[in-house]
Amino acid sequence: MVASFTIVGAGPSGMYAADALLKNFPDCQIDVFDKIPTPFGLIRFGVAPDHFKTKNTARQFARTLELDQVRYLGNVEIGRDLSVEELKENYDAVIMSIGAYNDRKLGIPGEDLPGVYGACAFVGWYNGHPDYRDLNPLLDGTGAAVIGIGNVALDVCRVISKTRAEMDDSDICAHALDSIQDMPVENVHMFGRRGPVEAGFTPKELGETRDLERCAAIVDGGQIPDEVEGEFEGREKGIKEKNLNILRELAAQDKPEKSVKMHFQFYASPVEILGTDRVEGIRLERTEVVDGRAVATGETFDVPCCSVITAIGYYADPPEGLPLNGATIENEAGRVSDNVYVVGWAKRGPSGTIPTNGPDSRDVVDLLTEDLNKADVEIGRPGGTAIDALLSSRDIRTVSFNEVLKIRDAEIARAVDGHPWEKFTRISEMLAVLD
Ligand SMILES: Cc1cc2nc3c(=O)[nH]c(=O)nc-3n(C[C@H](O)[C@H](O)[C@H](O)COP(=O)(O)OP(=O)(O)OC[C@H]3O[C@@H](n4cnc5c(N)ncnc54)[C@H](O)[C@@H]3O)c2cc1C
Repeated sequence: MVASFTIVGAGPSGMYAADALLKNFPDCQIDVFDKIPTPFGLIRFGVAPDHFKTKNTARQFARTLELDQVRYLGNVEIGRDLSVEELKENYDAVIMSIGAYNDRKLGIPGEDLPGVYGACAFVGWYNGHPDYRDLNPLLDGTGAAVIGIGNVALDVCRVISKTRAEMDDSDICAHALDSIQDMPVENVHMFGRRGPVEAGFTPKELGETRDLERCAAIVDGGQIPDEVEGEFEGREKGIKEKNLNILRELAAQDKPEKSVKMHFQFYASPVEILGTDRVEGIRLERTEVVDGRAVATGETFDVPCCSVITAIGYYADPPEGLPLNGATIENEAGRVSDNVYVVGWAKRGPSGTIPTNGPDSRDVVDLLTEDLNKADVEIGRPGGTAIDALLSSRDIRTVSFNEVLKIRDAEIARAVDGHPWEKFTRISEMLAVLD
């Protein structure tokens, strides 16, 4: 009997899971759903546009979607077009790989003012995610505040600070590039509650702030500790030591000729977003780090800015029937219930790079394989045929992988100014290429 599987979400974790299923069940059939017509999740919508080479990872995933045993059904949202129950009934196993791409809130006064954006929304806007096409962020002042000291915060600061020429070989969307380049930017502030040792960014990304054309990184040398203190060891400690060295280098350099300053501000916790009808500034409280935790000192200071972008963590938004536990779908080592499993950021939270999802998805597929190999488990649910009938009765326009390639070709054809492609940013535009 041929086993039928479905994977919900064609991001990295879902695609690694597809590879692992094909290894463990060479004869199986797999349907991969994604709510967006185009696949690959945050490779398209998260990875910074000026890190275009990172997106080459998608090529290996494209090869999987080209296999006869794998069927891609884009433009199908589980929870809206099909329910989890319907998938459970029709496939031998369901793997949820929906990511965790919803912004956590700061929970401070003023957070709902126009001009405050989560990083998912802001990054999604410049990367052409259809959900954020019309965000139109307020970038009309000289200052922006970014909350968070991880790689996503660095990505946002860098993309705001680069010149148009520096973005030439990126795949930033034209609407966002124009809006960012029109901003009269002078100061980009990156605020972290804790210190440089606790920062989540990595040396490669931090190092990129050394050589920006019009932007100087400003670091207060007094905030950089002499050595990595705390319970860090091995590779993690090495990364932190490299970070401290780069920050020391940045603190020592003097670049008065640069028109934009990127201020690294550690030990500063946001307490209020200031403004009446929109963001006008942000109030922060100085902190001290005690046993790895930020402790407020009571001393506050204000920084003027036209917008605040938060990059402080993300949570999954599962369809009905799958409970959330904190930021992730409730699971035990990837097992959710009956024949439902979860992988990737939806399983373990928003941490790790694209390759980190590989071993994680393989472990869950091994667990699934053990479960299906148990003597009392029957394989042979109808799979795609029953689901196709449901989709057509609901008039859902699915997008195949061949059609994804047509959308990609049309995006390449409309590229200008050295950009590799100009992405469509609305689902209607993508479908118009096909119909
Ligand atoms: C801003 C940002 C920048 C990053 N930059 C890098 C980088 O440079 N290098 C690196 O290695 N890693 C980077 N990462 C991390 C990397 O993107 C993640 O490790 C990886 O994308 C997680 O994979 P995932 O499959 O769990 O989730 P995702 O990539 O989020 O994929 C989830 C997929 O599920 C789909 N989906 C969601 N809900 C539904 C539903 N109900 N029905 C159908 N489909 C659904 C989504 O459309 C999406 O395609 C970055 C992350 C972020 C947030």
